Amino acid sequence: AKTMVVKIGSSTVTEPGTGVNRSFIARLAHEAVELRSLGWNLVVVSSGAIACGAPVLGFSTRPADMPSLQACASVGQCVLSAAYDEEFRACGLATSLVLLTRHDTARRQSYLHARDALTRLVELGVVPVVNENDTVSVDEIRFGDNDTLAALVACLVSADLCVTLSDIEGLYTANPSIDPNARFVPRVEKIDAAIIASAGDSSSSVGTGGMITKIRSSRILMTAGIPSVICSGADEGALARLARGEQVGTLFV
Ligand code: ADP
Repeated sequence: AKTMVVKIGSSTVTEPGTGVNRSFIARLAHEAVELRSLGWNLVVVSSGAIACGAPVLGFSTRPADMPSLQACASVGQCVLSAAYDEEFRACGLATSLVLLTRHDTARRQSYLHARDALTRLVELGVVPVVNENDTVSVDEIRFGDNDTLAALVACLVSADLCVTLSDIEGLYTANPSIDPNARFVPRVEKIDAAIIASAGDSSSSVGTGGMITKIRSSRILMTAGIPSVICSGADEGALARLARGEQVGTLFV
């Protein structure tokens, strides 16, 4: 079987103010079943813990101080994991929770432990849901963004494809929310200065990376020989179409 790592951005998995986007997770669970029938296993890298926890703790906007963010991450991770587990279980699939810090991939011994655990989970038919351990990850031990984390997870499990589900259908020649002349880029074979210059920050309130962290993670994956795709989380059936080898979003090879 092949393995697909799917990174899900905060703006896809959460709804402003209310927390977790159940209908998205339910749809993903159905896609996971379809992927399995096509011979693909799924590993999810999901953001959204802080955005899920904030409303539970009565914060109407993302708090500014680190301990409050850590508290939101801790509460929100439970809400988020429960939503994944319930929706996937309803489709007959078990999920698991894997929280990583940069230490876990920086030291060889812990890298190997993380690799063995993830590999075994996938073998057992589980859909691991991976996130950065934001409750204990302060700046110096952070991956910083889940685009980078997804690339490392794809390397850990020797993925055949890494897909980033974003709030945009792929890479443009400039940020289309600012530049009306931005053109869609369906395929990237070399990450040069022009591509890096085209990638701006996130324009959403909950996104953390923007396009630049996605480009950097695609570059890591190109070096590792793992193809990656950026496409829209709103594009229903995109993962199954990718599994069938169809063109969706921007492909980095
Ligand atoms: P997510 O949290 O869903 O991963 P982000 O907000 O972090 O999403 O990143 C996607 C956003 O990056 C887009 O919605 C867009 O506003 C911005 N962006 C900046 N430069 C580009 C570009 N060249 N092509 C596409 N999107 C870009």
